[in-house]
Amino acid sequence: MDSGLKYQRQVYLDRNPFNDECEVRRQTFKIVRVRSQHECLMPAHGETHHIEPGQFAVCERAVVEGEWSATYACIPCMDLMIESEMYEEACTGSDDAVHSESWQNGGPCDHCGALGEGAGS
Ligand SMILES: [Zn+2]
Ligand SMILES: [Zn+2]
Repeated sequence: MDSGLKYQRQVYLDRNPFNDECEVRRQTFKIVRVRSQHECLMPAHGETHHIEPGQFAVCERAVVEGEWSATYACIPCMDLMIESEMYEEACTGSDDAVHSESWQNGGPCDHCGALGEGAGS
């Protein structure tokens, strides 16, 4: 099946974009091709948007407060989340990690968004 995924399935499944504030049981994550339109849960694009039929999404199924529910996060949003985690690691993960060039020039880092040296002065 051509899923068009950028990363290994497990990379998506290892991340939990769903908030677990309420009681959640029997939680499972799966990559699915949605058959009907669903709202994407991820705020990464800033605005509410939908996953169209035929697109892939990470689906969480769980019993939430006693009832089965399914929530979905689209793959582009998951990619953004994974990338920003990777960049964070690249920027701050080790002693010789560095922010991007624009950070060194005083702007926000292209990777993690940290404000540059001398920004705001
Ligand atoms: Zn999305
Ligand atoms: Zn950075």
